[in-house]
Amino acid sequence: MSRLSVKNIKKSFGANHAVKDVSFELDSNEMLALIGPNGAGKSTTFNLLSGQMAPDGGQIEFEGQSIVDLSDREIAQRGVGRTFQIAQTFGSMTLLENVQVALLSAKSELLSFWHPAKRYKLDEAMELLRRVGLELVAHKPCCELSYGDVKRLELAVALANEPKLLLMDEPTAGMAPSERHQLMALIHQLVLERQSTDNPMAVLFTEHSMDVIFGYAQRVLVLAGGQLIAEGSPQQVRDNELVQSVYFGGGKTFKEVAS
Ligand code: ADP
Ligand code: MG
Repeated sequence: MSRLSVKNIKKSFGANHAVKDVSFELDSNEMLALIGPNGAGKSTTFNLLSGQMAPDGGQIEFEGQSIVDLSDREIAQRGVGRTFQIAQTFGSMTLLENVQVALLSAKSELLSFWHPAKRYKLDEAMELLRRVGLELVAHKPCCELSYGDVKRLELAVALANEPKLLLMDEPTAGMAPSERHQLMALIHQLVLERQSTDNPMAVLFTEHSMDVIFGYAQRVLVLAGGQLIAEGSPQQVRDNELVQSVYFGGGKTFKEVAS
């Protein structure tokens, strides 16, 4: 059984059909890339999967059960993790406090955080920061972090929930190439480590950089104008004529390609 099964999901904003009949499967250990030009519908697809938005139609099954009618919080509790912007929300807290809060909230213990003291989940939080390479800055406030470190912290916070499926919308956007590879190598390592346990992790990510896609995606889905136009290994997708026309301009517009 696949971990995630998506069938004919749709989402329109007025007359704008952002996502049209998108269907795909994702295995328990897989790193799957969702690529496509700006406006293709990638972020909307992520929002539908994580429950930030309800689809207009279609089916989404996670571990064999429909999640289309669940709230984002319920979907997260089932084990779908997503990176989100931390800097704005908890900027004055230290990295360690941020991860502690994430650990507490993952276990629905948020209310008890305020009295028992700062030691709560300390070791677990430190271990997560160590995993993402941030233990040396654990006591800094988040607002002082570099962009790459914020991305690493977002990953630590998402991992606090021990997700079975990790959704990452442009995890390396704005990063220098070396930072990009470091972050993706870390995610790949986590997938490999959990592969042999009874709690494997699948990853769905969007990405613009071809070297990241070739380095880390086992399979690639290509979205254009809200529709999937190709699917396959990175090589297959790169050699696909339709994909080439979308990315490298074969004389067709995205709308022609997608219709
Ligand atoms: P991508 O992430 O591939 O760049 P998006 O999913 O963000 O694409 O956007 C797909 C289309 O949906 C775009 O035309 C965008 O303008 C539109 N869109 C996305 N989110 C909204 C929204 N909340 N309200 C209205 N239109 C939206
Ligand atoms: Mg986007």
